[in-house]
Amino acid sequence: MGIDIKSPEVEVRESRLGSITGFAGTAGELCDSYKKGKLCDRRRSFSQCLGCSSGNALCQLAMIQDAVVINHAPIGCCADFQDYNFTNRVGQRRRNMPLKNARLLNTNLQEKDMIYGGVFKLEKTVREAYKRFNPKAIFVTASCASGIIGDDVEGVTDKLQEELGIPVAYVSCEGFRSRIWTTGFDAAYHAILRKIVKPPVEKKSDVVNVINFWGSDIFTDLFGRIGLKPNYIVPFSNIEKLERISESAATVQVCPTLGTYLAAGLEQEYGVAEVKSPPPYGITGTDMWFRELGKAVGRESEVEELIKSEKHRIAPKLERLREKLEGKRVYVTAGAAHGHSLIALLRDLHMEVVGAAIFHHDPCYDDRNPESDSLGHVVRNYGDIENYDVCNKQPFELVNILNRLKPDLLVARHGGMSSWGPKLGIPTFLMGDEQFGLGYGGLINYGNKIIDVLATKEFVKNIACHCELPYTDWWLKQDPCTFLGGGCNGKND
Ligand code: SF4
Repeated sequence: MGIDIKSPEVEVRESRLGSITGFAGTAGELCDSYKKGKLCDRRRSFSQCLGCSSGNALCQLAMIQDAVVINHAPIGCCADFQDYNFTNRVGQRRRNMPLKNARLLNTNLQEKDMIYGGVFKLEKTVREAYKRFNPKAIFVTASCASGIIGDDVEGVTDKLQEELGIPVAYVSCEGFRSRIWTTGFDAAYHAILRKIVKPPVEKKSDVVNVINFWGSDIFTDLFGRIGLKPNYIVPFSNIEKLERISESAATVQVCPTLGTYLAAGLEQEYGVAEVKSPPPYGITGTDMWFRELGKAVGRESEVEELIKSEKHRIAPKLERLREKLEGKRVYVTAGAAHGHSLIALLRDLHMEVVGAAIFHHDPCYDDRNPESDSLGHVVRNYGDIENYDVCNKQPFELVNILNRLKPDLLVARHGGMSSWGPKLGIPTFLMGDEQFGLGYGGLINYGNKIIDVLATKEFVKNIACHCELPYTDWWLKQDPCTFLGGGCNGKND
């Protein structure tokens, strides 16, 4: 099934990709259950917290430099606005861009609006946003409240697009629509594909779209060495650039959990080749990613040269790091494909990955290509991973598992999860910049950082001595999967 950009709403990951949020077993068992058609979502009878698609849509759209985002929601739904503005300003500073606040508005839906409807408020807010900021486009992110009362957001955005003469796009990221909050990325990209991207006028054979979060710029150098230029999307781009992403020679993504929908949509609608490979973390994944990119843009020999010189450059440093890290036991908690990438990278540093809590699982991506299977790639090339849980940020499960496994190191991608490591006396490494571990140089970056973090052992032990966990012995002695129900035919399937 392809991507339907005529539909106002994105199809959620559960039905589009068969994604799940509950599993416990090994990584190999998870891959096999999909191949055998037996993958089932194990539901939790107790859940501490969840993310929301709206946040994932906002974190992409808020950093388009000349757009406005209107969150059509009660005021509580925009409690995370300051996070996007902070990331926006830090990123602007890093890129030597003028410092400007993200332009984010909320319609402040209240009880009365739940009865009479919120579309009048929305219309007023869109006109106000246009008058105040003169943006190049306006995105309207929906919420549980606007969805439940059935506000016709698509009708309003279409009407105001005609009136104002700029794209005004509905973003279908109502929190209740999907249990998989990365559906919010897809909703943001769906709106960009529908209302922003224009058909190509002139193809650019040396420009490659890079779908990324907001990490550091490593591609200008790497791509420059093979005669290519990166076009970073979506944060820190602008509407004019986004209109033209259909003209690029290819699209790469640092993480298919993030970019699967946009990359596949650009290939389907405008023939922009999507590079189909595991993400570029760890040696094998990076080799495959660059070779696929070389094929897509007709630069195979340049890519081979680049691979050779990068591997040669890092070889002595990598050897030294491996000697120091050999056999150290590490536990990973992260979003789906980025978690798989971290496992590959840590295995390449010769560390023992004793388990992982990965926020959800996409058994396939929108390109439906087995080459892109990031977890299958890890299992094939690095062996199976025991204690592999699909766990949508449930700290009670994480704490129980860490307490049992007692790893030497916890590697976390999200702040809320990393705080549990030191409380249990485990040195913990939190890395928000996804480009930090990317490519061959990323192995060295990670290895060096891990050595620094392992040196904090006594410090975190002291922290643990002064911490009282909110979990009692009763819970810590229970099976961590106590609240994870069975699938269709038993435990995982
Ligand atoms: S959209 Fe729904 S789930 Fe998301 S923050 Fe608002 S109320 Fe919560």
